[in-house]
Amino acid sequence: MSDPNHDPVASTDAPEEAALAQVRAKAGEGIVVCDACPVLCRIRPGKTGACDRYGNVDGKLARLDPFVVAQRTIDQDGRLVPFLGKPWDGNLVPSPDTFVTGIGAGTTYPDYKPAPFIVSSQADGVDMVTVVTEGIFSYCGVKVKIDTDRYIGPEQAAVRVTGEQVGHVTTAEYGSQMLSLGGVRHLTGGSKKEGVVTCETLLTLCNKGAVEMSIDGGSSVLVQAGRPPVIGGVAEERMRVGCGSATIGIFARQWLGHVDEVIVVDDHITGVLTEHQAGRFLDMPHAGIRVRGRRSTPGRYFQVANPGTGWGGTDITDPLAIIEKIDPKTAWPGLRLLMVSTTGEHAGWFVLDDKLAPQPASMPEPIRAVVERIGENCEPALCTVLFMAGAGGSLRAGVTENPVKLTRSVRHALTRVTSGGAPVYVWPGGGITYMVDVTTMPDNAFGYVPTPAIVGPIEFTMTRAAYATLGGHVDCIRRIESIQGVERVKPIAWSPTNPWPLRPPAGEA
Ligand code: SF4
Repeated sequence: MSDPNHDPVASTDAPEEAALAQVRAKAGEGIVVCDACPVLCRIRPGKTGACDRYGNVDGKLARLDPFVVAQRTIDQDGRLVPFLGKPWDGNLVPSPDTFVTGIGAGTTYPDYKPAPFIVSSQADGVDMVTVVTEGIFSYCGVKVKIDTDRYIGPEQAAVRVTGEQVGHVTTAEYGSQMLSLGGVRHLTGGSKKEGVVTCETLLTLCNKGAVEMSIDGGSSVLVQAGRPPVIGGVAEERMRVGCGSATIGIFARQWLGHVDEVIVVDDHITGVLTEHQAGRFLDMPHAGIRVRGRRSTPGRYFQVANPGTGWGGTDITDPLAIIEKIDPKTAWPGLRLLMVSTTGEHAGWFVLDDKLAPQPASMPEPIRAVVERIGENCEPALCTVLFMAGAGGSLRAGVTENPVKLTRSVRHALTRVTSGGAPVYVWPGGGITYMVDVTTMPDNAFGYVPTPAIVGPIEFTMTRAAYATLGGHVDCIRRIESIQGVERVKPIAWSPTNPWPLRPPAGEA
């Protein structure tokens, strides 16, 4: 995000129209003023603006990155799509199997202009329109899911990158730790450095890059979409099979007859087999081993230890440390005890001696097989990065003269929203607040402007009739064939795992 050629001349606080007029008046020979965002860069010949997205090419303002269109090479039934009678060769062939994305399309700022590309094509005999733009999002962030039981830091703790707070730890989910990063407060509400670092962090994560973060009172975490997290320098491999109680439930029958007690160590819910409902159903006698912590329900214990990076997301390295007492009236010498974590990564086999003290022993083969099965049932630990932004603001004016009609059309599923062609989840309620998994999008789909804000692709697809109904810029519709004449166009193969967006709504085909 360096800006060697950047010569912004107006702050974002200045009234935009006045600033633009002033800048245009001052612009010298050969200098062009970019008005694609509020920074209003004056760009010298052959140079680029602060975001590197626009440049001065032969005295004209030009969007520099490729404009990405996706060609569907396999249809919804898995059949190869022929292009001019042969398989697709990587060249653009405008057709109903071409989807125009917002990547590299350019923006409509300050939004009274129609979107840069409003493209028509036919799908199943129905005229469709796709409106594409690059949204400039100050209200945006990422939600990060990190598949691990390891303690990364307390809920609400600050997440920092190079010392600047870029977000916080939020509510943990089943088998995963969660971060909420970015948002308007970190982008614009703190120091300039905080905003810049937050913007860089979001941009790198959204473009599938890796970012090292530190969490106050917790660990360092290396996060990259679709890759295993690295926590405190150690790559996480397994996502737990379930909590301690769930692990007891899944494997109870397989342990029956080979063991007298199983304790599944877990930071959230530690399970104790013979007390647990599963052990009761299997008529296993109580073993008389009481673990530390708060009993929730029979065989399910909270807070047996502190959170950490040891067994089952606790801070313990010696599993026997969580045993509070062994009842001599119930337990017996020779009692066989398995202690295991929720990933099977840690396991210990013990036999009670004459004084009822657990002694380590060699694990029998049938028990080892079940411990290995716990590991086998763990999924690979990954980081998931969801970009989240609000598209319910002024960019709607690039689609229609009456923006609320677009919001209603999205709400009624008449308009499909995608980001770089990838499906998005639109939140219920007001506005067009959406989330998208960045791994489903083409590479390097995101950019930034130094206001600071993230630039992300967005497409609105609907029938031509629906577009006219919502007051769309129908005069600006161009046929898909005209895309061939766009200089920067870059065809890529459509990702067949994404649903094809050029489908008429049900009942209109
Ligand atoms: S930062 Fe980029 S989009 Fe904004 S005015 Fe400068 S060149 Fe144009």
